Parts: sequence; structure tokens; C-alpha cells
Amino acid sequence: MTKYEKQIYEIVNKLAGHLTADQIFTELKKIYPSVSLATIYNNLNKLCEAGLIRKVLIEGSPDRYDRIAKHDHLVCTKCGRLTDICFEDLTASLKEQLGSSFFAYDLKVFYICPECRDLSAAGNAMQHVYR
Ligand SMILES: [Zn+2]
Ligand SMILES: [Zn+2]
Repeated sequence: MTKYEKQIYEIVNKLAGHLTADQIFTELKKIYPSVSLATIYNNLNKLCEAGLIRKVLIEGSPDRYDRIAKHDHLVCTKCGRLTDICFEDLTASLKEQLGSSFFAYDLKVFYICPECRDLSAAGNAMQHVYR
């Protein structure tokens, strides 16, 4: 691993906050002020290819990078926030049903996060008051 790969790996695993490349860039600049965004992308790709981190794709929002440990995600349809959630591992059951054609699965559950739910509840209350 290069020094950049190592740092990026640590940032992704320690912060575990589903950072975008831009956010990782900001973090890494604190350590290596002269690093470029292109370097970040190169190293992120290398780490993904090596299976050391993974990319989480959410439609309509930038790619996030995440630790590799098996877990699933709740995705807020309003603000795009990702929250880790652990479901029962479906690998065994999928393998049983699909046999050797099974490769991997990536589960996303779409919901409205508590913050957005509070906001919309507050919004509804306001509408009620002014109606
Ligand atoms: Zn939300
Ligand atoms: Zn995650």
C-alpha cells in the first residue's frame, strides 16, 4: 500500500461515515496538504479493486466509500443520508437458491430518516396552524 492508500483506507474505516471522494479529499489534505483530487480517485479505485473498501452507489448522489465488513444500508429518500443496518446474512440462502451463479448482494432499504421525519412533521404542523 502507498502512504495515500493507507491513509484513505484508515479514513474510510475509522470515520465510517460513508464519505464521498470530496470529503475524503478534505480529510487527507489535513495530513498531506499537496494531495490532488485525482490522486484520491486513483487510490480509491485501487482500494476498491483490491477489495479493501467498497463503493456505495446511490442514485442521484455522489458515490460513497465504506468499510468492507458485511452490513446493509438504510437510505433516506429525502436527504440521502446512509445509515448502517445489519440484517440476517442472506448469503447462504441466496447460494442455496442460485448456486454458483450467485455473486454478491447489496441491500438498500429506502426510508425517511428521523431528522427528515421531524422536519416534515413540523412542516405539517405549521400548515395546520396557518390553514
Ligand atoms: Zn433524511
Ligand atoms: Zn455502511
